[in-house]
Amino acid sequence: MTDTHCPYCSLQCGMRLTVPAQTSDRASSLEVTPRDFPTNAGGLCAKGWTSAQVLDVPDRLTTPLLRGPDGALHPASWEDALSAITGGLRDIWAAHGRSAVGVFGGGGLTNEKAYTLGKFARVALRTPFIDYNGRFCMSSAAAAGNRAFGLDRGLPFPLTDLAGADAILLLGSNVAETMPPALRHLSGARERGGLLVVDPRRTATAALTDDEAGLHLQPLPGTDLQLLLGLTHVVFAEGLADTDYLRRRVDGVGAVRREVAQWWPERVERETGVPADLLRRAAHLLAAAAPGRGGAGAYVLTGRGAEQHAHGTDTVTAAIGLALALGLPGVPGSGYGCLTGQGNGQGGREHGQKADQLPGYRSIGDPAARAHVAQVWGVDPELLPGPGVPAVELFKKVGRPAAEGGIRALFVHGANPVVSAPDAGALEARLRRLDLLVVADLVPSETAQLADVVLPITQWAEESGTMTSLEGRILARHKAIEPPPGVRDELWVWRELAARLAAPAPFSDDPHEVLAELARASAGGIADYGGVTMERATREALYWPCPSAEHPGTPRVFLDRFATPDGRARMLPVSAAPVADDLRPEAPLYLVTGRVLEHYQSGAQTRRVPQLARAQRQATVTMHPVTADRLGIEEGTPVRLTSQRAVAVATAVFSTGIRPDVVFMPFHFAGRQRANLLTNPTTDPISGMPEFKVCAVDVASADTP
Ligand code: SF4
Repeated sequence: MTDTHCPYCSLQCGMRLTVPAQTSDRASSLEVTPRDFPTNAGGLCAKGWTSAQVLDVPDRLTTPLLRGPDGALHPASWEDALSAITGGLRDIWAAHGRSAVGVFGGGGLTNEKAYTLGKFARVALRTPFIDYNGRFCMSSAAAAGNRAFGLDRGLPFPLTDLAGADAILLLGSNVAETMPPALRHLSGARERGGLLVVDPRRTATAALTDDEAGLHLQPLPGTDLQLLLGLTHVVFAEGLADTDYLRRRVDGVGAVRREVAQWWPERVERETGVPADLLRRAAHLLAAAAPGRGGAGAYVLTGRGAEQHAHGTDTVTAAIGLALALGLPGVPGSGYGCLTGQGNGQGGREHGQKADQLPGYRSIGDPAARAHVAQVWGVDPELLPGPGVPAVELFKKVGRPAAEGGIRALFVHGANPVVSAPDAGALEARLRRLDLLVVADLVPSETAQLADVVLPITQWAEESGTMTSLEGRILARHKAIEPPPGVRDELWVWRELAARLAAPAPFSDDPHEVLAELARASAGGIADYGGVTMERATREALYWPCPSAEHPGTPRVFLDRFATPDGRARMLPVSAAPVADDLRPEAPLYLVTGRVLEHYQSGAQTRRVPQLARAQRQATVTMHPVTADRLGIEEGTPVRLTSQRAVAVATAVFSTGIRPDVVFMPFHFAGRQRANLLTNPTTDPISGMPEFKVCAVDVASADTP
C-alpha cells in the first residue's frame, strides 16, 4: 500500500495505491482508493478513480523514438536518442548560439522536476528562453497578487477555511466539474444563501445557487472587470466598505474609489447584461458576511474564466480591490484566493520555470538573487542568462530564422501545446519548421507526434517527488510500482544530458537530493522551502513559507502584514477594456472555452481512459436553442466554428443555460476538434496570459457549403 496524491489537478486529492497480492506489479492491477486528506476528505472525481489506467494505455511509450530520413518516428536506444539531442544542440549552438534553443515546461511536473528544468535551461543549455504552460493557467492571478500583496500564493489560507464563510463570490470557476471534491468546502455558504457564482453559462456550479442558495450572475464574456468595478462601486457608495481595515492595512483607496464612482449598477447592467438589482444584492450579501460588519466571513475567489483574458491581471486586481474594500484579505475566515488548476500549478511557478524567475520566486534580474542561486548551483553568476520571454512570445520565435532571433531547437516537458496553446494551428506550423524538437511524454501526444526525438518518461505512481497544492501546501507523492522497462525519469534525462553537454554544475536524479538543493536555493526567497524535506512533506504536508527544520509552515499568510515592503496592501485603479477579438457581422457569437468533468487539460491522458472517453468522446459546442434555431442547426449534428484564425468542428449540444450570444467548447480534443485553433493569442501586457476565454466566431452547420 502506498499513500500518495492524484496525478491531475491542484486539489491533489489524497489516494491510496494498492498492488493486490498474487498479481503482477503492473499498473493495470493497481487499485486506487480515496484517502482522507483535507482538500478531498475521502472523495475523488472520475479522473482520480481511473488515474492508474493511464499508466497502462495501449500506446504507452516504452522506448525513445527518433525521426528517420523517411520522416517517420522509429524506436531507438536511449544512447542514440541522447546522442541525437546533444549532436543536434552542438550543431545549432555552433551555427546560431545558445539563444537559438528554447524550453517549454509544465505545471504538472513535480517541484524537483520544475526546479531541475529551470537549472537545466540556465546552466546546461545557457539559454534565457524558458517558460511553461502555467503561463496559460494562473499567470494573471499571480501578477495581480504580487502587485497587491507582494506575494502570490494561490490560496493564502487553507481550503477548509471556506467552509465557515457566510458568502463566497466565485468568478469563472466551475468547481462542480473541474474539482468536484472541493464542493464540500462551499456548502456552508450555500446553506446560508451566500454562494455567488459569476459565469456566462449556467454551469453545474452555477446551478448550485438554486433554491435560495445564492445568486448566479451571468455577464457577457469579457466583462468580469466591469462587473467587479460595479460591485466595488456599490460597496463604497452604499457605505459597505470596511473603512477601519482600509485605514489600517491598505494604500491607494482614494484612487480606486474615484475610478469605481463611474461604475454605477445601471451602467454595469448595460455593459455586462447583469441586472442592477442583482449586482446590489450580491454586494450586500458579501458585505453582510464580512467580519468587519459582524459576519462569519467572506471570500472572493477567481478561476480561469476571469483570468484568461488580455486584461486578466486588471480583472484580478479588481477582484482583489473588492475583497480589500470589504476588509477580507489577511483576516481569519475571509480573503481573496485563486483556484489554481494544474496539479503543480503553484509549485511549478516557484522554482525557476518562469521566464523571469529563479527558484524561491526570485527575480532573475536581481543581482543578489542571481548570486544566491549561482552559489547553490556552484557556478559564476555571470554565466546565468537574463530574463526570457513569456510563452506566447517564446512560441512566436519558434521556427523563425535564427538571424531574426528565432528558436531552432525546443524541449517540451510536461505539456502538449499543439492542443493547449492559443492559435494552436499557427504554433503547429512553427514547430514543424524547427531543426530539433525534443518532447518527453508518456504517450504520443499531439506535440510528441511532431518531434524529432521522443523520450518515454515515468509517471506519478512510478516515481517519488513533491507537489505544491493550490493552498501552497507541499505534499509528497511516492513510488508504488516500477515503470515499464525502457522508461526513464526526467531527472535522469537532464542529468545525462547535462553531463554530456559538459554543464559546469552537477545534476542529481535523486528526488531527495534535488529537494534538498531546491530548499537551499529557495531559502530566504518569497516561496521559502528551506525547512522542507521529503520526510516532512510525507508526514505533515507543510505550507510555505517554511524557512527552517523547526518552522511549522505557514497555513495563513498576511494575518499580521502583507508581503510588501511596508506591510500594507495596494489597491490599484484599473480601467475596463474591450475584448481583443470582438463581435462583428461575419463573427457574431462569443466563443468561451473550458473544461468538462471527464477530461483534463489537453486530454492527452484522459482521452485514453475508456470510461472517461466513453462519457465524452468528442468535442461538443454548447449553444442556446434559440441561437441554433436561427442558424438552422440540429442538436447532435456537426457544426463548423470559424474565427479570424482557423476553422474547428464540433457536435452541437443545446442548453437554455447559456446566453444566446455565447457558445461554449471544451479544449480537451485534438485535430480539427481543437478549440484552441480558434482562440486569440493576444496577451495581457503584464502577465503574458492569452485571451483564451473570449473570441468572436461564426457558427454554421457543417453541411452548409
Ligand atoms: Fe484528482 Fe482533481 Fe479529481 Fe481530485 S478533483 S481526484 S485531484 S482530478
